[in-house]
Amino acid sequence: MTGLSSTARPRCNLCASERVGVYHDQGYRRVVKCRDCRLVFVDPLPTPEQKAEIERLAYEGDLLPEVADFFRNCHRDFKDDPVIDAFRHGLRWLGTHRKPGRLLDVGPGTGIFLHLASTEFGWQPFGIDICQESADKALAEFGIALQVGDFDTYPWAPASFDAVTMLDMLEHTLDPAASLRRAWKLLKPGGVIYLAVPNQQCLMTVLLDRYIRMRGPGYRFFLERLYVPPHVYYFNPKTLRRMLGHAGFEILGVSTGNVYLGRYRLPLRMRVPMEIVLHAGKLAGMGAKVLALARKPETHQQPLPGA
Ligand SMILES: [Zn+2]
Repeated sequence: MTGLSSTARPRCNLCASERVGVYHDQGYRRVVKCRDCRLVFVDPLPTPEQKAEIERLAYEGDLLPEVADFFRNCHRDFKDDPVIDAFRHGLRWLGTHRKPGRLLDVGPGTGIFLHLASTEFGWQPFGIDICQESADKALAEFGIALQVGDFDTYPWAPASFDAVTMLDMLEHTLDPAASLRRAWKLLKPGGVIYLAVPNQQCLMTVLLDRYIRMRGPGYRFFLERLYVPPHVYYFNPKTLRRMLGHAGFEILGVSTGNVYLGRYRLPLRMRVPMEIVLHAGKLAGMGAKVLALARKPETHQQPLPGA
């Protein structure tokens, strides 16, 4: 992870401001916050090649051993767990605004969300992932043929989907505003987008951010776990809502949800206090995830980038 260097001034992907404050310093990169719109992101951003390598290492579990088991429940004989429940909740929400049709999931990982979308909710599943291994797994486990490639350039016809979903994906992208504009183009008029991203205003993140900035004992451990290499943008309900609006979407709803720690390999002494803080955060409207549903208007033109 060395060699990430850039002399370019960091520029906010949401409001194009170059006024940023350094939030944390991780050595190989800084976590910065836009002074104008509060979007948090890393500087420098990795190159696309570096990003691909980071994702490969993360997927293989070399980078973050505690998430190595993350995909163990993503197979045909999956057991219901809170992650599956959250997927179903999202699909039910989607279904209240659009009849099932062609659904494109961007970054589907193992394909279990698409499997639920097609078998339980009647959607015709499509997906694109940069990782060949994901596509192989989705085909072997669920019989779903994913495209392997870059969402921003893959040659689908405009207005060819009824729904686009991006679950835990946007925080990984190098140009999230462009990815949302691309999703807008690919949606039919009246089509909907459903997103889930980590919430930068999650109670646990807010508390740990303070601890890290105070340089509490072992703060580096928390810094590296909170700001993992595959994540390059950090949203809160407000910044996600605003970026969707800039891309031309009409917001149908934004809420917060939680992560399921049972999928992580965590010692009990860490898991118990984390569960308590996550639960308190959820009650306070500061859950660990931002969930958003938005629609491409039936008639409106997409605003120009930066408008
Ligand atoms: Zn900004």
